[in-house]
Amino acid sequence: MRLKIVQLGEAVLRQRGRELKPGEIKGKEIQDLIEWMRETMYDAPGVGLAAPQVGLSMQLAVIEDRAENFRDAPPEFLKERERKPVPFHVLINPKITLDPGENVSFFEGCLSLPGFTGVVARARRVRVDCLDHAGVPRVINASGWYARILQHEIDHLFGTVYVDRMLPRTFMNMENFNRYWKSTSMADVLKSAQIET
Ligand code: ZN
Repeated sequence: MRLKIVQLGEAVLRQRGRELKPGEIKGKEIQDLIEWMRETMYDAPGVGLAAPQVGLSMQLAVIEDRAENFRDAPPEFLKERERKPVPFHVLINPKITLDPGENVSFFEGCLSLPGFTGVVARARRVRVDCLDHAGVPRVINASGWYARILQHEIDHLFGTVYVDRMLPRTFMNMENFNRYWKSTSMADVLKSAQIET
């Protein structure tokens, strides 16, 4: 079943989601929700979807980055972003730890604010402690684009959207992004926006 993706301005996107109890994760309600969120994410299409984006204030998100999502991107583009396929998985009640080392800046978008994009500086590496789809504790150590997806989705579970963190001078609609900036290096994007690096 395809769920409705709520748009920025709905209060649920600004709330801290409730934690799920281990006992409820295996129940039919949550298992059905996971399947529906998976279908909704594919359909959108997106690489992640958080429960608040389907109107539910709870700490649950689904993630998958399929190779076919970026099959048309140039190899150097993928290398710069460290983007590799990520198999489908579920995050429940996550605790994220940002590696204090390197930050990396790239354009990012959101299904709850379609048609726009902006540059967000994020930790290159993260550790996530969470429960999986079956309520089993998992530790995820991620880097590159996967680390960005995790940060974006976990932000949603606590009421934060990428526009809160972006470099506002880089905000634009997708039409102009595709027209002018799609193939521009990040160094030139930031320079053109008069952002000191
Ligand atoms: Zn989002």
